[in-house]
This record gives sequence, C-alpha cells and structure tokens, in this order.
Amino acid sequence: MSALLEAQDLTRSFTVGQGMFKARRTLHAVNGISLDIRKGEVLGIVGESGCGKSTLARMLLGLMPPTGGRITLDGTDIRELGRKGMARRVQPVFQDPYSSLNPRRTIASIVALPLEVHGIGTASERRRQALEILDKVGLPQRFADRYPRELSGGQRQRVAIARALIMKPEIVVCDEPTSALDVSVQSQILNLLMDLRRELGLTYVFISHNLAVVEHIATRVAVMYLGRVVELAETEALFRTPRHPYTKALLASVLTPEPGEGIPETGLGLAFPDPLNPPPGCPFHPRCAERMSQCSSIAPRFTQHGRDVVACHLHDSEQVAAISA
Ligand code: SF4
Repeated sequence: MSALLEAQDLTRSFTVGQGMFKARRTLHAVNGISLDIRKGEVLGIVGESGCGKSTLARMLLGLMPPTGGRITLDGTDIRELGRKGMARRVQPVFQDPYSSLNPRRTIASIVALPLEVHGIGTASERRRQALEILDKVGLPQRFADRYPRELSGGQRQRVAIARALIMKPEIVVCDEPTSALDVSVQSQILNLLMDLRRELGLTYVFISHNLAVVEHIATRVAVMYLGRVVELAETEALFRTPRHPYTKALLASVLTPEPGEGIPETGLGLAFPDPLNPPPGCPFHPRCAERMSQCSSIAPRFTQHGRDVVACHLHDSEQVAAISA
C-alpha cells in the first residue's frame, strides 16, 4: 500500500507560563513523529491520556500547524493545500457528539454545511445529498428536520459521521469516536465505520485509549508515549508479540485477572511523568520493568523488524553491542 498521508519528523510545542515569578517552559506535545498512513488502511493510534494523540490528530487534519517537520498528502505539503483543500480530502469525527453539532441547526443543514462552505451545489442539491448520506449512516429521512437535542448520543455520532463523509473524503481522522457513548452503542458505531470503509474505500486514522476497540478495527497500530511513537506494527503482530515494554504494559493493563490470581502486574505503577520535565534517555525508563543501565541516559533509536518498528534498546542489537564493547 502506498503512503497517502505522511508525517515527517513532526513536532508541536507549546510555551507554558508558570506564573509571575517562574520561567516559561516548553511542552513538547508531539516530539519528532514520522509515520505514513497508507491508502485503505486503518491506522490505530493508542496511548495514555496526555501522550499527544489528539494534538497529532489535529495536525494531520490541518487544524493545527506543526512547530517542526511537515505533513504531505499524496506528496504535496498540506500547507500548499490550505484549510479548504485539506477539508475536501481529510475529515474529522471527534469524540463528543454533544458539543460538535451546532444546536441551532437542523440535522440536514448540519450535514450539508461543508458543501455550503465549499460552494458546492444548490440548496436543494445539498439537501438531497444530505438525505442520501444520512440514509447511508442509518438515519431515516424523518431525522432531517430535527435538532441535535432531539437525538440520542449514538444518533448524533451518526450525524457527525455523515457530515464528515458528505465531502467524499479519502481519509477520516476519528479521535476517540466512541468513548463518549454508552457501551451498547459503541459497537454499532464501530460496525458502521467498518461498513463505510468497505463501501467507500476510506482510509482511517483511529485514535483511542481503548486497546480492545483498536484491536477490533485497526490494521496497523502506533503506540505513543510522551509525544513520541515508540512502536508501530501490524495489529495482529502487536497484540500477539509486542516488542516495546510500554506496549506490553498497556496490553497487560487491559487483561482481566485469572480467577484466584489477582490483578495482573501491569508494570505501569508509577504515574505518567510530567510532560514539562520528561525523563532523560528513554522517556519510559522510570516506569520500565526491563530498563538497563544505558536507558536513563541514551535515547533509543528506531529499529526495523520486518515491517514493524520499535524504539527500545532491547531491540537494537547494534547499540547494545556498541555500549558493551
Ligand atoms: Fe525500557 Fe530501556 Fe527499552 Fe526504554 S529503552 S523501553 S527503558 S528497556
């Protein structure tokens, strides 16, 4: 599969004020991420809260400029495409279907709004297209003239998906699209996203803290920690034989305990580190159950393992050999 959207050494920093007598500090929300999103795949992005997933999503959508690196879509820098050019090809579905829909607009006008903004079609053509796409996401025509407050959470998320699809995008960036929904509704929305992908040939970036959901929907998974990708692998390989100790700990944290054996040891006992003061060397070293002496001073580099990559000294035989020589 060829790369459709590509991030190269992507960085996003924020200056954080510490009060009148304290110095301003820099928060690296995304810190040197390179990844490609291939046509037709579902790239899952996982990690704990605060690891930079949503900042990365906003940059991939062209909604937030990076402070370093660049993003290309089909080889063209997205800065050349502009906001409107990006919106035609990359669309978002956000977490909260309650706040992402304008309460004063009817469902049909919310869904048709992107066409209106881009000056596509007449008002009646836009309404016809909105009704068609509402039908595709499983909302009958009787919903068209209702308001968001009259819909359930799952129905509102269907509206948000319809609005994302009306521009016929190639890529949909889904940022925690089911986490605000009741568990009973989550699988309906996931199945809808899978059906639409098959039917429309979509490519998804799927951001979630829920590993079970990502295992279900993603074809590849990037694991993020403190603004970096630490492992990127095919979904089956990542869940069957994770390489990075953080990935292992995340997977252990969702295991259900064996009867009589208590809660499984996750290795993530220490709190998430302060992003304003990240640990030196490997940023995961204070929490890592497998850390070695060099981990607190030398940052691991990426190594390739077949089609997968990982940033950990345990999997970098050259660096380990150089250090022990
Ligand atoms: Fe653990 Fe060291 Fe690997 Fe970091 S580089 S994940 S501290 S073993």
